[in-house]
Amino acid sequence: MTHTAHKEGSDNEMEFAYTPRLAGLRQQALALAAVIAKYEDECEQHNGLGPQAHAAIREAVLAHGLQAINVPAEWGGAGLTVLEQVVVQDVLGSLTNALWDTVWRPANPLLACTPAQRERYLIPDARGERRDAVAITEETSGSDPAAVHTKAVSDGDGYRITGNKWFVTVGDAADFLLVLAAVQPQDAPTLFLVDRDTPGVDIVRTPRYTHTFVYEHPEFSFDNVRVGPDAVLGGVGQGYELTRDWFTEERLMIAARTIGAAERALTLATDWAAHRMQGGEPLINRQLIRAMIADSVVDIAVNRAFTHQVAWEFDQGGNRKTLHARAATAKLAASEASNRVADRAVQIFGGRGYMRDNPVERIWRELRVDRIWEGTSEIQRLIIANEAAKRGLPGLLEFTGQD
Ligand SMILES: Cc1cc2nc3c(=O)[nH]c(=O)nc-3n(C[C@H](O)[C@H](O)[C@H](O)COP(=O)(O)OP(=O)(O)OC[C@H]3O[C@@H](n4cnc5c(N)ncnc54)[C@H](O)[C@@H]3O)c2cc1C
Repeated sequence: MTHTAHKEGSDNEMEFAYTPRLAGLRQQALALAAVIAKYEDECEQHNGLGPQAHAAIREAVLAHGLQAINVPAEWGGAGLTVLEQVVVQDVLGSLTNALWDTVWRPANPLLACTPAQRERYLIPDARGERRDAVAITEETSGSDPAAVHTKAVSDGDGYRITGNKWFVTVGDAADFLLVLAAVQPQDAPTLFLVDRDTPGVDIVRTPRYTHTFVYEHPEFSFDNVRVGPDAVLGGVGQGYELTRDWFTEERLMIAARTIGAAERALTLATDWAAHRMQGGEPLINRQLIRAMIADSVVDIAVNRAFTHQVAWEFDQGGNRKTLHARAATAKLAASEASNRVADRAVQIFGGRGYMRDNPVERIWRELRVDRIWEGTSEIQRLIIANEAAKRGLPGLLEFTGQD
């Protein structure tokens, strides 16, 4: 086989290598992940971390310059492109117990803040001084956010919000919430910025879930919660647009994190297989074990490449609806594939793979929710198929720039 000579700046080449900037960011993320990984066992054993651990992690995030990677630097964030964020999230996804979530990324709709809202919410959030949580899902409104029951009724120049919200991730640690409510009487879906300590905002219960997550996902009630007109984020009736944009990028980040988690699980399982002797042979000599390793390599390598590609496409701009479907493709493929990898990793470890002090066991439990939240796998399929029906297959299948 011969190699074609590399032509500097040639129009004939696609670039697939990390630039020095991306490689540097990856190193930064690896260094931060190494600091945070020390808290994994503590988090598993105590169902969360104490204030000292949170403070130490916060300092580490700031010291590594990876705070609010999705927020422009002028507002206190690290100001990374979508591709750069994917590089970082891929690394942080290897952390168990959702410790990636201690590396805060303010919810993207906050980029729609007015200058005054920015000072009060986004900038302190980006600096790690305040924390947001997103409250969209309700008891009767999950995959279908149009079924939202939480109402906002005009009260003087402001509103009174009443309703319930389920599964509010980071709700236990949040200083303020982004609440989706239907403004009456027109039922206009709208996001509100609601301070956690506003009278009428309460946690109803804090359920336990399959994973041991560093934060909780409590259920909230809003009882006649009075907010001013300045609590509206991005305008009355803009709630779906803002949440859709949030979902789109968040789904790419989920894809990236699940790939990082899957790589860690496969690395641990492959090392184990190389040393574990059964029947006088290391496990890795067995074809059935090798098949699991090979299938896992395929699941990770293919999804890593595609997720990076779609992130790059985001940074090039383009049709938001097509990108929405591309992100759905990445999330669906990567989360399903990573679940397969984690399951195989547990299998390769045997009984040891089922023990909670094995990171592989935690990854297996923790990846399950990635097929459910931010739109289930079924909803991703509906988005992809809807794009195929409305705008055709080319946007879903072809490379950008292909004619
Ligand atoms: C740990 C955790 C954290 C979460 N964090 C947050 C958060 O921070 N903020 C927030 O707002 N929400 C959060 N969620 C909620 C999450 O986004 C929803 O659980 C998810 O969107 C699915 O909604 P649902 O649970 O009501 O299921 P449902 O919508 O009731 O769906 C149940 C099943 O039916 C399927 N289904 C639904 N509609 C269709 C359809 N049209 N066609 C085919 N199949 C369909 C689904 O795919 C699923 O399999 C979280 C959930 C969990 C578990």
